[in-house]
Amino acid sequence: MTTNPKRKRQTNLARGRSQAVDSSTVVDKKRGTYYPATEELRPDEMRVTALGTGMPVLRPSQMSASWFVELGNGDNFFFDMGTGSIKNFSALGVAYQDATNLFLTHLHSDHVGDFPLWWIGGWITRQTPVNVWGPSGKTRELGTKYCIDKFAEAYTWDITSRTGELPDPGKGYRVTEFDYKAMNKVVYKKNGVTIRSWPQLHAIDGAVAYSLEWNGFKFVYGGDGRPSDLFVKYSQNTDLLIHECFLTEDLLMRKFGFSKQMAKSVGTVVHTSPEQCGYIFSQTKPRLAVAYHFFNDFETVPEIGSHIRKTYKGPLSLAKDLHIYNITKKNVIERKVAYDPDNWPSRSKDYVDPRTLPMGKKTPMSKWLLRHAIRLDE
Ligand SMILES: [Zn+2]
Ligand SMILES: [Zn+2]
Repeated sequence: MTTNPKRKRQTNLARGRSQAVDSSTVVDKKRGTYYPATEELRPDEMRVTALGTGMPVLRPSQMSASWFVELGNGDNFFFDMGTGSIKNFSALGVAYQDATNLFLTHLHSDHVGDFPLWWIGGWITRQTPVNVWGPSGKTRELGTKYCIDKFAEAYTWDITSRTGELPDPGKGYRVTEFDYKAMNKVVYKKNGVTIRSWPQLHAIDGAVAYSLEWNGFKFVYGGDGRPSDLFVKYSQNTDLLIHECFLTEDLLMRKFGFSKQMAKSVGTVVHTSPEQCGYIFSQTKPRLAVAYHFFNDFETVPEIGSHIRKTYKGPLSLAKDLHIYNITKKNVIERKVAYDPDNWPSRSKDYVDPRTLPMGKKTPMSKWLLRHAIRLDE
């Protein structure tokens, strides 16, 4: 990617949108709604969907952290898979078999909690293994592989019971764990896509941020963390930059009953306050800056928006679940997804006759228990 054309684009966009206050001002009014499965992604386009923008506690409108990135070359990637986020993924009409790559920033439940739902739930319509990338920790037990293996272990009954009923390949998972200390190092490179990672300062060692570069676009996702010079350094020249923005100390005290000391520690040391978030945006100057990880509504937006605006004047989106961003060379637009809440899972074009796939060995039910079956159809 060359720096100059991008700089020029940034400047034009920043000028046009310098008064942006919240998401509504960056929505393209002509295309204000996205209807899943009705719109082809162009070969040179990137599309990013917010699957979870809330907090570790859920509320109906906001699941926990997750972002879904689709590229015009046909590839796609989840970044984090927080609790509840797969509910929003189901709205997109993308087949589980066509979405098998997950990059984790860290192992808080609000970033990894829906892994079992995606992996085991998706097995019903998926015929291939899933792939997970994530950081190591200071010890083996604090790393991604340990976490995912333990999820699998916890679901031993589930997996045993489905084995032999569903084709075997869909129950597989592969974990690629990389060094959490990697400094902007490549952790994935394939099909023109390069993903890099660097450490984030979040609670304890072992959290990371990612950049994804493809087709001259750069997407950055910070996961969680307090402001850091690493993030500023490695997030320059970004098209879509997502950084956490926690509730203000005042909101944490009012809404969650935090003490002043807890609010300060959680809101500005473990996480990033709105004012700090604005500082990060002003130091990185993305084409569009996206703040997430707070309860976003009529009550919080004025306060959080005005705090971000103390330190940042450029293009800004305050993300909510199922906001969708299309990134082209020309512009970055934000819309909302409209969906059928009663939709069915899509089937991949690669789905094959299940009879052609290997089946595992069934675990039989005990004879004494089976004697109680009422046999109508066998
Ligand atoms: Zn976290
Ligand atoms: Zn989080």
